[in-house]
Amino acid sequence: MVKKIYLYGNWKMNMTRSETEAFYKDFAGQVKGSPLSAAMGTALEAAVFPPFTSLAAAENASKTCPKGLAPILGAQNAYLEPKGAFTGEVSLPMLKDIGCTHVILGHSERRVIFGETDELIAQKVGAALKESIVPVFCYGETLEEREGNKTFDVLSRQLRALSALSAAELGRIIYAYEPVWAIGTGKSATSAEAQEACVYSKKLLGELGGGESLVVLYGGSVKPDNARELLSMDAIDGALVGGASLKADSFLQIYKAYAGIN
Ligand code: PEP
Repeated sequence: MVKKIYLYGNWKMNMTRSETEAFYKDFAGQVKGSPLSAAMGTALEAAVFPPFTSLAAAENASKTCPKGLAPILGAQNAYLEPKGAFTGEVSLPMLKDIGCTHVILGHSERRVIFGETDELIAQKVGAALKESIVPVFCYGETLEEREGNKTFDVLSRQLRALSALSAAELGRIIYAYEPVWAIGTGKSATSAEAQEACVYSKKLLGELGGGESLVVLYGGSVKPDNARELLSMDAIDGALVGGASLKADSFLQIYKAYAGIN
C-alpha cells in the first residue's frame, strides 16, 4: 500500500521573493491536472520553508494557487521569546502572523554554525508547541560520531533533550533524522542506515511517551533518483529536502518517484 508521504523543502538561505513566486506558480502548475492533485493533502503533505524575507511572498503566492494545491508554509528557525529586545531574531507569534504553521528547529546548520545547544532547541520546541506551530525537530550525528560508533548515543542525547515534554506534545512534533555527513554532500545515507536510525528514534521516543504513530522524516541528499528506495522503508515517513527542493520539478519528482507517477 502507498503510505502518506511528508515532503518538506528546506530552502536554507536561497530564494528571493520573485524566485519564491515563480516556484509557487510552477508548483501549482505541475500539480494541477496531474495525479498529484488527488494526492495533495491526503497521500502527500508538501511543505516549504523559505527564508524569513520570502515568507510574505510565499504566503501571497499560496493565495493565488488553486485551492488545496499550495504547499504548507513554514520557517527555518525562530526565537523562543514572543517579543522584546532580541535584535535579529524572529518570534513564533510573528511567524504565525505571516501564515506559518510549521517551523524547523535544531537543523544541524543551526547547531554547528550558530552553536545552538540541545537545551536551547528543546526550549524552542516547547515554545513552538505552546504557539500551536508544528516543530520540525532535526537531529543526527556527524561523520566523526558515526565513524566512532557514537551514532545511537548522539541520537539518544538529542532526542532525550525533549523528555520534559508531555506525551501529547511529543506526538505533535515532526522529527527529521538528518545525518550531518549526508546534508548537502550528495552522499545520502543508505536506506538501511536511514531505516535503522528511524526505527531507533521511534522506539526511544515511544519510551519517552511519544506514542506509536510518530512521524519521522529522513533528510540528507534526497533526490528523485534515491527517493523511492529511501521512502519505501517502513520507518521513514517522508523526506526533508534541501537542494532538490529549490525547483518545483525536482521537489515533486521525489514524490512521483516514490508513488510511481510519471
Ligand atoms: C537539509 O538542508 O535539511 C538537507 C537535507 O539538505 P540536502 O537535501 O541538500 O542534503
